[in-house]
Amino acid sequence: MKKSRPIIKEVTKDIYLVSIPIPLMKQVNCYLFRGEKGFTLIDTGLFTQEGIGIWEDLIASGFKIEKIVLTHFHIDHIGFAKWFQEKHHVPVVISRLGYEEMNQRRKGVYTDWVINLFQEHDSLRFYQTVIENPIALEEQMMYAYEFEPDELLEDNQYIMLGKELYETVWTPGHSPDHFSFYNHERKIMVIGDHIMDHLSPVILLESPSDVNPLMSYFDSLEKIKEYSIQLALPGHGKLMESLNKQIKKIKSGHQYRMEQIIGSLQNEEKTAGQMTQEIYRKTSSVLGYSPVMSTIIRCIYLESIGKLHSECINEKRVYRLAD
Ligand SMILES: [Zn+2]
Repeated sequence: MKKSRPIIKEVTKDIYLVSIPIPLMKQVNCYLFRGEKGFTLIDTGLFTQEGIGIWEDLIASGFKIEKIVLTHFHIDHIGFAKWFQEKHHVPVVISRLGYEEMNQRRKGVYTDWVINLFQEHDSLRFYQTVIENPIALEEQMMYAYEFEPDELLEDNQYIMLGKELYETVWTPGHSPDHFSFYNHERKIMVIGDHIMDHLSPVILLESPSDVNPLMSYFDSLEKIKEYSIQLALPGHGKLMESLNKQIKKIKSGHQYRMEQIIGSLQNEEKTAGQMTQEIYRKTSSVLGYSPVMSTIIRCIYLESIGKLHSECINEKRVYRLAD
């Protein structure tokens, strides 16, 4: 069998990119920051056999990983943290909020919660993977989250990535615990899944305590504008030299979809499931998790700013235009 080779590339002085293949999103970007005693690894990829080959090769070729810092708790980023900690004794750093999300997932209640959410929004029929195999999703999460981090981060503090100091910038939206990291001297920002060059990140409801993730996301986009950025290192896709154009594009994409929601409710009230099908003009069998989730979070946002009103009728949440 052909052994997998590390896909490693220098992106700028003392920062290297390792691209780990994953299903669906194709790849996740992990970054190595050179330090005095080894490299700081930002994000780790989804835990797969192919990934094990890549990381084993990299370590065998002399890369010493000093510590791991995670942008957020999603399994395509946190996947190898436990493996590095157990097998290679690498300390793992995540935000306190990320640790709280991990603990929530460890309880094994996520799948039931998300099924209830989709049911309430009349959309469970679109979420085939979880209906067909709820155990697989739950098991993958159980593995990824079954470890204790060595250090917890807060917002607005400084952390060493390699040999340089980075400010921790809380950027919730894609996930409630999402952090970006900014170096003031080199104007480099590790941006994770907050902003990407090729797509608008899906904004997710993750637990009952997530109230209005799209509102948080818009606030986080504004927050980023305050930083002068020459190089942004995203969790997927290409590196970016500035973010303002992309921020504009992402915002207008949400705006366009929200106008479609308002348009769809002109003459009658509807569930998020009905609107998703109408707006994305697809049959129920090909609609996935993301369009439904996106419609739900937009409806919640629109209701929070007084544009929509909703009520639960026969256990289904029905939206109409506000008076
Ligand atoms: Zn991701």
